[in-house]
Amino acid sequence: MTEIDFKAEVAARREDLLADLFSLLKINSERDDSQATPEAPFGPGPVAALQAFLDLAARDGYATQNVDNYAGHFTYGDDLPDDAEVLGIFAHMDVVPAGSGWDSAPYAPEIRDGKLYARGASDDKGPTMACYYGLKILKELKLPLTKKIRFIAGTDEESGWGDMAYYFDHVGLPAPDFGFSPDAEFPIINGEKGNITEYLHIDGENTGAVHLHRLIGGLRENMVPESATAVLSGALDDLTVKFAAFAGRYADKHLRLETEIGTDGRVTVVLHGRSAHGAMPEKGVNGVTYLAKFLDEIGVVSPFTKIAGTILLEDHAGEKLGVAFKDEKMGALSMNAGVFKFEDTSSDNTIALNFRYPQGTDADTIRKVLAKLPGVSSVTKSEHEHTPHYVPMTDPLVSTLLSVYEKQTGLKGHEQIIGGGTFGRLLKRGVAFGAMFPGDVDTMHQANEFIPVDVLLRAAAIYAEAIYELAK
Ligand SMILES: [Zn+2]
Repeated sequence: MTEIDFKAEVAARREDLLADLFSLLKINSERDDSQATPEAPFGPGPVAALQAFLDLAARDGYATQNVDNYAGHFTYGDDLPDDAEVLGIFAHMDVVPAGSGWDSAPYAPEIRDGKLYARGASDDKGPTMACYYGLKILKELKLPLTKKIRFIAGTDEESGWGDMAYYFDHVGLPAPDFGFSPDAEFPIINGEKGNITEYLHIDGENTGAVHLHRLIGGLRENMVPESATAVLSGALDDLTVKFAAFAGRYADKHLRLETEIGTDGRVTVVLHGRSAHGAMPEKGVNGVTYLAKFLDEIGVVSPFTKIAGTILLEDHAGEKLGVAFKDEKMGALSMNAGVFKFEDTSSDNTIALNFRYPQGTDADTIRKVLAKLPGVSSVTKSEHEHTPHYVPMTDPLVSTLLSVYEKQTGLKGHEQIIGGGTFGRLLKRGVAFGAMFPGDVDTMHQANEFIPVDVLLRAAAIYAEAIYELAK
């Protein structure tokens, strides 16, 4: 391996890296379908962030290509022969909704105690810029490479991956030969579970001493709902006393309830739990399932709250649902109940269940079990599905990335298989690599998302050497 001091090269560019990263973090790049147009397929925010990223690359002397505002790229090594292998780097400029509960404005990045706070700081603008600067160092040092590097930024990673589907169809270039995505953690993610969302359809049947007019919660299928809102009428005496007793039974969940009486006499209640990434539902407190459980106990009678509050409550492995499954290599199935919509006037209320599943089970097997749940009239599946993905340790992509990680950190590398889906799986020889380190606090998809500045810099040095070793 080369004797270049990549950590020193990164340290020399610290301020530039942070300035460029701040410029991207200031852009609210949440998907907004209400403002989507043919020119802004996921709304204006993701387009603005993509363009800002490509502008940085153009400033640094790369020829950039924006594929109709779905995704964009630049290629380093255009002077290499046409048949040179291409290393793909897949990042994304979109972010999940900021949600509530922030101590600072999510799109006004700020460093406190060495941590950079902003939506997108760790998922995925921070790691993207760490990796970008890794490549920038190789470029500025003019290190000779034999492979091209194509740096690709998407705009719809957090939702349906419509960006990359469009990109590959319209970019007019073959897919990279191998690659990685700086959108997860070190040492590596070389296996990813399958990912499917299935929708329970439930009618509005609703009897009982307390009437449920409305119950909604959840911003995205891949997030644990932080809060849930219900509109109620009927026998609602002592609501706060009853809630205090309920919350006391689940003291470790820190449940919180706000109530408001409307002019029509209906009571609106909002229960707060804790959000988390949908691939790790056990790290959150699903606000809707707890509110449904509470409503069940105070007199709401409906199949919707029965399923939400009894079956789905803390059912992260799908055991109560009856879909639990475990594979020796890839681990266990996990389930996040992500989006709930109930109106008593509707005959088609839905609960979106997002499953991460190992090899050995599949979406249809799960669907058949769900269809038998009491009160469920039908089950539909999301258009997009990811099947389980695995790149073996013997692949030089995996072994090279791990050896650079070990060299720079002094830690032992090992394979990891996760429930989250990353752009690593876009290529048959694709993995995710960084930028979180073992033991780091994971704040992705949560309020007060941050990345420690030193993590950013350590990651950039690893990316520089990793790209060099893969492409030299
Ligand atoms: Zn991400």
